[in-house]
Amino acid sequence: MFAIPHNLEEEILRLKKEQNAVILAHYYQDGEIQDIADFVGDSLDLSRNAAATDADTIVFCGVKFMAEVAKILSPSKKVLVPDLKAGCSLEDSCQPAPFAEFKKKHPQALVASYINCSADIKALSDIIVTSSNAKKIIEQIPADREIIFAPDQHLGRYLEKVTGRKMILWNGSCMVHEQFSEKELVKLIANHPNAKVIAHPECPQHLLAYAHHIGSTSALLKFATQHQGDEFIVLTEPHIIHQMQRDNPTGKFYECYFEDRAGCTMCNNCPHMQLNTLEKLYLVLKYGDKSPSGGELQLDEALRVKAEEPLRKMLAMS
Ligand code: SF4
Repeated sequence: MFAIPHNLEEEILRLKKEQNAVILAHYYQDGEIQDIADFVGDSLDLSRNAAATDADTIVFCGVKFMAEVAKILSPSKKVLVPDLKAGCSLEDSCQPAPFAEFKKKHPQALVASYINCSADIKALSDIIVTSSNAKKIIEQIPADREIIFAPDQHLGRYLEKVTGRKMILWNGSCMVHEQFSEKELVKLIANHPNAKVIAHPECPQHLLAYAHHIGSTSALLKFATQHQGDEFIVLTEPHIIHQMQRDNPTGKFYECYFEDRAGCTMCNNCPHMQLNTLEKLYLVLKYGDKSPSGGELQLDEALRVKAEEPLRKMLAMS
């Protein structure tokens, strides 16, 4: 029933045009999805793009919280996702009921939440940040104001270090960034002594201690592009290397693995992001809600309105 055409890419482009759709993809998507997307970026780039597009439909190749951001900022658009089950371990680590209780213990605190959280957590927040703009936004919060930072404890600790602000941290984490093996990293550094270690701040402090450059996916890509022909050890989800290699064709990029499965080239991929495929992208464009895994993202309007305010604040302050 759900036949996949042999000219898959052509069909995706045809359906996209027919529906006046735009395809947005995160850097952690498969290379073939990145190549067919109209726009590839990190969470901040993608949220800005979703807010500004004049397309009727946004096809979001990323995970659920990212598609929710597109819907929150562009409520009149149809937001399609290739796989409705593509979630996020970081989002899962912060559930609304315990978070609301946590907030009650610190009634005077301003809640700054990382964009990698559900619409429910956004609705409980005062401001949203991404790894690109978090430092800039936190530095704008009055120094005497207590701050709750959620859900990523590692990004929170990194921000405490670079801003000098002590924050009340929720103890969530990303399953990909938390599990890179220090032993594997040390081996990689020994084997490639000229390589620069570039790391996402979702990594724990003991890994960030090795980094020559720390930043959001966009910042890491920019750094790799500015150092043509150099070698890099990449401490973030490895699909970003597709863009890095494109923008720095003579550069050499090395992935770091998880300790228990060293040698497996798949083991450090985000399993949530990997649920999206080119075939599912085609199927959701062709069949919408009737596609086997994907469909239109639905969001309660009252929740959307509550979640929009802290997101708009972020866009204004970044
Ligand atoms: S890489 Fe981590 S934070 Fe990003 S979507 Fe996957 S689980 Fe979530």
